[in-house]
Amino acid sequence: MTSKVLFPGSFDPFTRGHADIVERGVQLFGHVVIAVGYNIAKPDAQRDAHLRVQAISQRYQADPRIEVISYACLTTQLAAQVGATAILRGVRSIKDYEYEMQMADVNRQLTGIDTVVLFARPELASVSSSVVRELQHFGVDVSDFI
Ligand code: ADP
Repeated sequence: MTSKVLFPGSFDPFTRGHADIVERGVQLFGHVVIAVGYNIAKPDAQRDAHLRVQAISQRYQADPRIEVISYACLTTQLAAQVGATAILRGVRSIKDYEYEMQMADVNRQLTGIDTVVLFARPELASVSSSVVRELQHFGVDVSDFI
């Protein structure tokens, strides 16, 4: 049976690590909603999020099981709006684990929604959007990561 899972994040930029979580999420749930979060108070944030949505949508345009949207509300509110049965997140390290555990606990307390966490593939565990941004800043070819 298919259900919808919400995969929220900044995706700035969307990396091979994110793509791996999306593809594994589709296998588990049947439908993944990738939600690009942005801070409404920051100038240009909405436009930047929209550009990211377009870039990610292009990658998955042939796959009706994957949807891409942007959002600026609470993740739990969005989950209710889209009818998601769970929130999907990825964990690369102990640092990620502690953060995800705390967020999952808060979100479950807010609305009862559970978070499903997938462990990063070892070969992708060092891939992070912030490292990719830094490399891009110095003109390094990042096509192996994104
Ligand atoms: P956020 O700013 O909400 O942490 P990110 O875009 O950085 O958003 O990450 C979205 C989710 O993807 C997070 O759960 C993060 O831990 C996970 N993630 C990021 N990179 C990887 C990776 N290389 N492998 C697996 N999961 C990842």
